Amino acid sequence: MAHPWLAQRTSAFDSSGIRKIFDLAAKMRSPINLSIGQPDYDVPEPVKEALFEAVRSGRNGYSATQGIAPLREALRGRIAPLGHADRDVFVCSGTSGGLVLALMALIDPGDEVIFFDPYFVMYPSLVRMAGGVPVPVDCGPGFGIDVDRVAAAITPRTKAIIVNSPANPTGVQASEADLRAIAELAQAKNVCLISDEIYSQFSYDEPFVSPARFNERTIVIDGFSKSHGMTGWRLGWVHGPQELIDAMLKLQQYTFVCAPHPVQWAGLAAMDVDMSRAVADYRGKRDRIVAGLKDLYELTVPNGAFYVFPKLPWGSGDEFIRAAIERELLIIPGSIFSRHDTHFRISFAADDKVLDRGIEVLRELARR
Ligand code: PMP
Repeated sequence: MAHPWLAQRTSAFDSSGIRKIFDLAAKMRSPINLSIGQPDYDVPEPVKEALFEAVRSGRNGYSATQGIAPLREALRGRIAPLGHADRDVFVCSGTSGGLVLALMALIDPGDEVIFFDPYFVMYPSLVRMAGGVPVPVDCGPGFGIDVDRVAAAITPRTKAIIVNSPANPTGVQASEADLRAIAELAQAKNVCLISDEIYSQFSYDEPFVSPARFNERTIVIDGFSKSHGMTGWRLGWVHGPQELIDAMLKLQQYTFVCAPHPVQWAGLAAMDVDMSRAVADYRGKRDRIVAGLKDLYELTVPNGAFYVFPKLPWGSGDEFIRAAIERELLIIPGSIFSRHDTHFRISFAADDKVLDRGIEVLRELARR
C-alpha cells in the first residue's frame, strides 16, 4: 500500500529498472559494466576550464530563465540552417528537463502521446506524469520508423509523437525517408512532433538528419550530456515554434528556474570543441562489438548512439541477465525499454578491454 500522503502520479510508474542494475554494479569488485548510458570519456579540458573560470569569476547566481545570451546566440547559429522563421531556442536543465517542459506544455489529461517501442525509459513515465496516455507503437523491421503503424495509432486525442533518432536503446538512426514521412504525417494530422536528438553527434554511417527539416513546427530537444561526457552537469536546449517555446519558458521559470548558470558558460566553450575523434573512436567500438557478436547473436547493426540491442539467445530477459550477472557482466534487459521481453541492451561506451571481456562472456552465454 502506498503512503496515504502520496499523489496518484507517484504510483503511475516504477522507478527505473536500470537503477537496480547500477546498485548491483556498486557491490561488484570488477564488473564488466556494459549497462551505462553515458560516454566513458571525461569532459574535454577547455570545457572544464570554462566551468572553473565561470565559477571563479562569480557567475554563480541565477541566469535569465531562457539562458545566457552568448550560448543562445551560438545555438541559434547551429539551428539557422533549418531556415525556419518562427523558431526560438532556450537553454534547459538537460534533455530530460526539456522533455518534462515540452510534455507539461502540451499534455492535457487524457491526451495521447505516441512513441516507438523499444523506447527510452523516461517516455512512458513522463507522459503519465504530465497526465497523458502513453501509446507505444512497435518499430518496423531493423528498429526503423514504421509510419503506417503510427498513422493507424493516431486518434482525435493524439497530441504528440516523440521521435528519437539515433535511438536509445537500439542505436538505430532512422533513414531520411522515414524521418521525412513521419514529419509530414505529424504535419498533416496537426500533431506535435517532438524530436529527442540527444545522440545527434553520434552518427556513424550517414550524416545526422533532424525531422525538423521536414516539419517547421517540430520541437527539438538536444543537450551536452552525451556529446561532451557532461551527464552530471545538466545542460540541454530546446528549439521550436515561438509560442510553444514561450509556454515552456513560463513553466521553466516556476520549476527549474534556469539551467545551472556556470555550466552554461562551459556549454558555450563546448560548442567550439571538436568531438570528431571521440565519435570516430566510438564507431570503432561499434565495429568491435558487432564483429564480436554477430555470428552468435541476432542483431541490427547500430548506426548511431552507443548501444546494441541484440535478441536474447535463450530464456527470458530475467534468466539471461541473471546468468550474465553471475559472470559479473552488467547488461540491461529489454523489458525495461519495451512491452516485449525479447532483447537486451549493451552499451559500448566502455574501454576496449572491458568490451572484449564482455564479448567473451556473451559468446560463452550464447553457446550455453
Ligand atoms: N533522451 C534519451 C534518448 C536518452 O538516452 C537520455 C539519457 N539516457 C536522455 C534523453 C536524457 O539526457 P540528459 O542527460 O540530457 O537529461
